Amino acid sequence: MILVLEKGFTQDQKNKIRSILFKEGCIVREMSESGQNIIGAVGKVSRDVDFFEQLPGVAKVISISTSFKLVSRQLHPEDTLVQVGDVAVGGERITIIAGPCAVESRDQALTIAREVRRYGAVLFRGGAFKPRTSPYSFQGLQEEGLKILAEVREVTGLGVVTEITSPAQADMMMKYVDVVQVGARNMQNFELLKCVGRIGKPVVLKRGLSSTIEEWLMSAEYILSEGNDNVILCERGIRTFEPYTRNTLDLSAIPVLKNLTHLPVIIDPSHATGIREKVSPMARAAIAAGADGLMIEVHHNPDEALSDGPQSLYPKQFGQLTRDIYVIAPVIGKQLDFDYLDKATAVEHLGKINGTGMQRAAFLGEMGTFSHKACTQYFGTKVAAVPTPSFKAIFEAVKKGEVDFGVVPLENSLTGSIHENYDLLLEYDLRIVGEITLRIIHHLIGHPGAGIDSISRVLSPPMAFQQCRQFLDRHSSWELIPVKDTAGAVKEISQAGNPDDAAIASKEVAEIYGMEVIEEGVETNPRNYTRFVVIGTDQLEKGPRRKSSFIFATGNQPGALYEVLKIYADNGINLVKLESRPIHGKPWEYMFYVDLEADAESKSFKPILDLLADKTDYFKVLGSY
Ligand code: PEP
Ligand code: MN
Repeated sequence: MILVLEKGFTQDQKNKIRSILFKEGCIVREMSESGQNIIGAVGKVSRDVDFFEQLPGVAKVISISTSFKLVSRQLHPEDTLVQVGDVAVGGERITIIAGPCAVESRDQALTIAREVRRYGAVLFRGGAFKPRTSPYSFQGLQEEGLKILAEVREVTGLGVVTEITSPAQADMMMKYVDVVQVGARNMQNFELLKCVGRIGKPVVLKRGLSSTIEEWLMSAEYILSEGNDNVILCERGIRTFEPYTRNTLDLSAIPVLKNLTHLPVIIDPSHATGIREKVSPMARAAIAAGADGLMIEVHHNPDEALSDGPQSLYPKQFGQLTRDIYVIAPVIGKQLDFDYLDKATAVEHLGKINGTGMQRAAFLGEMGTFSHKACTQYFGTKVAAVPTPSFKAIFEAVKKGEVDFGVVPLENSLTGSIHENYDLLLEYDLRIVGEITLRIIHHLIGHPGAGIDSISRVLSPPMAFQQCRQFLDRHSSWELIPVKDTAGAVKEISQAGNPDDAAIASKEVAEIYGMEVIEEGVETNPRNYTRFVVIGTDQLEKGPRRKSSFIFATGNQPGALYEVLKIYADNGINLVKLESRPIHGKPWEYMFYVDLEADAESKSFKPILDLLADKTDYFKVLGSY
């Protein structure tokens, strides 16, 4: 059952409630979510609901209607993030786990690990104890395999995942690996479930070959009831009558689980399909359906693999798949971050040198704005997001060292460049150290119960009005009130309490302020993306830099721009953006913004930079990232 505490409960009341629940033999979990303090209690109790409802400090008691309790979303409405080193499984950054079916040798594991890391994997998988259908098949390298996994972590920085097949292996698992996997065949091995519950390491719990979702969640419940909340559910295909694939991948399990449980859900399309060419399509579908991550088998020489070669992707195929996922993820509000691990190390390093331990990043407006989302998707939760009132204030804060980074929008796919920020990039001696693209879905948000016909005023920043032009034109009687940011707009209408007011913002902000969505997706075109850049004083020492941004001006003579562009063409450099912009105070003279696919701060680019500087009147590198 769930005990919701009264707003003004005292510590003493809470302790008494907890001690009654402990005496009843309950498992007790405390949570504070969406402004409410909750005590979750699981176990058979001798008293009825009325008894608990009348305890001082208790506002109401809700019984959990499902047989699984600790894993249920009713008990824990917010998503659980399972932290594995720097990787948070279940957040807005997609977790890619990849590697061979089995660790076969040190060379094989290291070769594959380097490849999958290069292509975006953040955790490495590899079996050391293999549960094979035939006792004559390769059974795994056992402890030797675990030692190799530990070396893979040491050398590549990838956390390692491996299957545990018996409680007798628990000590070895503690010693060598980061995540233990309970395989499909062991999903209902209850002694093993209790064991992984007790050892406390994150667990990937695979769905049994013929298990229902409820049975699967009950298995997860075993692990949580032993005190380990770090469970990642992995759908890997179930037995059906269909022989064309090894198993049938139950993608509908994703939305079903998202509703029933707070635990992260990943998909293993390798065991689900058993066929190499079927793996990528199902992986893409899984991400589109809302999976938090993927577990993919990859082998550099699958023909020689000691197990599951036919379903293993070649590293290049895996690379192509992650590129596709990179494109798909923003459509559903997530990211695949190729710099995930390097970025975490770089940020941590910065924290050490400035002695604060915690980095700060400024974003525009209040919690819940798209800028805030860009900030948390780029950095994860390890960097504190600092609400800041204006773009200029963000640049100032970075310049003065009050924050380590700033996150600012630079262009939108419907409305173009945000010139104010380009101007600030010109004015300040800061650099672009990263970028992130978000899909922007706008909603018309109002007071609970408000209908579209009663709205008379709409608040939002001018940029959002522009992106929703067609929708707003259909409601020409509305008064449009420009404000600084989307979250501020919702806050303002919620505080004013006038049911005729509405705001344009994201769904998440509506939830923060207890408002409701009146109309969904009101942006003119659903392909509405904003590209944000991260600014800082110094380059982030992370992985390879793929892109650079410049601003330049040429002399006002024939062929001047051509001369500059020729340098890019002669050197085979791909420009991905070129835009002209009037120079302040010089009518009819222009600056150019350029983005290109190259690391302009690398040694090999230096001669090209010299040529560019030579052919321009003004030239500034905004950053490589
Ligand atoms: C594996 O991941 O290597 C494995 C054996 O998976 P499953 O338990 O899903 O068959
Ligand atoms: Mn396998």
